[in-house]
Amino acid sequence: MQNFAEFKKDLAALISFNSVKGERESGAPFGKETAGALGAFIKIAEKMGFKTINYDGYAAEVSYGDGEEIGIIGHLDVVPAGGGWSVPPFSLTEKNETLYGRGVCDDKGPLLAALYALNELKNSGIKCNKKFRLFAGTNEETGWQDLEYLKTKTALPEYGFSPDGNFPVSYSEKGVYILTFPLPELKNFCALTGGTAINAVCAQASVRAKAGTDLKLLAEYGLKEKDGIIESAGKAAHGSAPQNGINAFKALFGYMSGCGEPLYPYYEYLFCDSLGIMKRENEQGNLTFSPDIIEEKDGRYFLSCDCRVPAPMDFVKDVKPLFDETGLEFTFTEKHPPFMVPKDSEIVKKLLGAYNKVTGENLSAVKMGGSTFARAFRQGCSFGFEFPYADNHIHEADERISVELLLKGYEIIKTALFDLAK
Ligand SMILES: [Zn+2]
Repeated sequence: MQNFAEFKKDLAALISFNSVKGERESGAPFGKETAGALGAFIKIAEKMGFKTINYDGYAAEVSYGDGEEIGIIGHLDVVPAGGGWSVPPFSLTEKNETLYGRGVCDDKGPLLAALYALNELKNSGIKCNKKFRLFAGTNEETGWQDLEYLKTKTALPEYGFSPDGNFPVSYSEKGVYILTFPLPELKNFCALTGGTAINAVCAQASVRAKAGTDLKLLAEYGLKEKDGIIESAGKAAHGSAPQNGINAFKALFGYMSGCGEPLYPYYEYLFCDSLGIMKRENEQGNLTFSPDIIEEKDGRYFLSCDCRVPAPMDFVKDVKPLFDETGLEFTFTEKHPPFMVPKDSEIVKKLLGAYNKVTGENLSAVKMGGSTFARAFRQGCSFGFEFPYADNHIHEADERISVELLLKGYEIIKTALFDLAK
């Protein structure tokens, strides 16, 4: 990067905003801090000489060139800092050739790198036969209302990418669904609780036994009891990869079923997968299912599950009937449908080519379990900044990226823009 010192100053300005979703204010639909980050981003782009549009505080657009449109989209909002940081989360810290701060990799750093790459294209004087439209959203982490709003204000490009996912390039994202199972009334247990988020494998669950405990059965399921509370400990993992975790509900449901509660079908079908639902797979990966959280409403327990569906499977046609077969009552909501760009399309080939050219590697396009803003474009790919061989600390304390990988990511995006411009 020609002007890395300047880049770090601009990144520090963006990181200084605690752009977690806040209270709506006039011109700031997701709060003051988020609007502040958006304003700072626009200022950086204008200083570079770009044309910009502020879509009423929801998103910004920076554009350059004339011709067929190519979209780039990232976001300036962040998840809460949480505890456990060794550096202040909302200032940019450089130590051991690594940049620290909330948003350095998700997604302020990559989005700014894309802007810098576009600026380098603009300043290079090469003839540009495309119109690049770079969008900065402000509500990616909590609901995508920015993208919904943007779509009502402008027609988005057909092709594009989002530097908010994986290198070398991802062409396929699973559909994300939430299935909620109301549980039958429990006779001998109460205060059933567990899980922290719908997209995280439940690591802690507990229930209170109203009438004694079966010590042999407790031991069989590896459970602990203290003062009538039965505790189950598992291991957290992302809801899209339940195989990496241990679901704490499983043992609890096994135990309660063993004590005569009518939970056996839930245990068998949802936790032991006795119908083989989770074995369904295709080229884009397997169907995943993770019962992640239990909530109580009006004295009734509801078990909510994260379900990910690989394209071109269709939830209603291909997946719902599998769960219908269990005979269990459930409702479902669609968060994102499955999404896929043809693997041999121009956009995938060009982005992958840029990655392999810069790194000297020879990787193939990948698929993701999560969903990204790449979906803003009918043929959209996620493209960086998570490298296949790097430790990633997205959404964690001490979010960080090494200067080396940041600069490599920048070179890849720049190479892609120069290739696409032709
Ligand atoms: Zn992100």
